[in-house]
Amino acid sequence: MSNSPLTTCTVISPNQSGKRLHAVDRITIHCVVGQCTAEALGALFADPKRFASSNYGVDKDGRVGCYVDEDCRSWCSSSAANDDRAVTIETASDSFAPYAVRPAAYAGLLDLCEDICRRNGKTRLLWLGDKETTLAYEPGPDEMVMTVHRWFANKSCPGEYLMARQGEIAAEVTRRLETPQSAAPPAPLAGEPGGASPSPTDEEEDDVKRYNSIEEVPEWGKETVVRLCAAGVLKGCGGERDGDGYPTGLDLSADALRLLVILDRAGAFAACGA
Ligand SMILES: [Zn+2]
Repeated sequence: MSNSPLTTCTVISPNQSGKRLHAVDRITIHCVVGQCTAEALGALFADPKRFASSNYGVDKDGRVGCYVDEDCRSWCSSSAANDDRAVTIETASDSFAPYAVRPAAYAGLLDLCEDICRRNGKTRLLWLGDKETTLAYEPGPDEMVMTVHRWFANKSCPGEYLMARQGEIAAEVTRRLETPQSAAPPAPLAGEPGGASPSPTDEEEDDVKRYNSIEEVPEWGKETVVRLCAAGVLKGCGGERDGDGYPTGLDLSADALRLLVILDRAGAFAACGA
């Protein structure tokens, strides 16, 4: 299967499993947790340490990036079985709940879903509403079924904004598919140079989870972080403080936190009053 002609930016990611074993019969829409450009998302997925990718991204202006060829399996939905049959789409969104999507991105998402269905010979995009029904459903040869990331991992993805619109997206795309072929695809919108990067607090993938405040730090690391903040060893960035006067903007990865706890246990911070 070819890639979408709506694509304006192609950055093939190393984070993928090569050719699919299952035919495409699902679309899984994700939220990026950041208002990014197609190029910025491509740069993110180009990093082999991210262990993440998607077939497509729809950026904040509605432009489409392609990161894993459509006939290959992306690493997107925390489910190899889902990713093996789903075209996965990351959609630029706010970095805070309900992870809203800009009108241009929403329009681009509808166009992309329509295009994916058409090229894969589908005449209906279905939103069945719950996990059990959907995963048990055997789609007909002309049917495409929508799934969501939160069914496969303890995540809020695709966020409440897109979650509430799954049915609307399915209905609108199916309505379009009922007409033989829509007019020529709209010209891609001009991209703004240097758009915002995806948020460093991206909760999309666990390996890039960042803890920014003591409240966010898991129990096993709390005691260490509190003492390091109190001693002024951890200062955070941005100068903001939480209600207890501790810095926020800590930007600690799980790996960094683990290392701090290990060093703390070894007494490494005794000399700085922590
Ligand atoms: Zn997701």
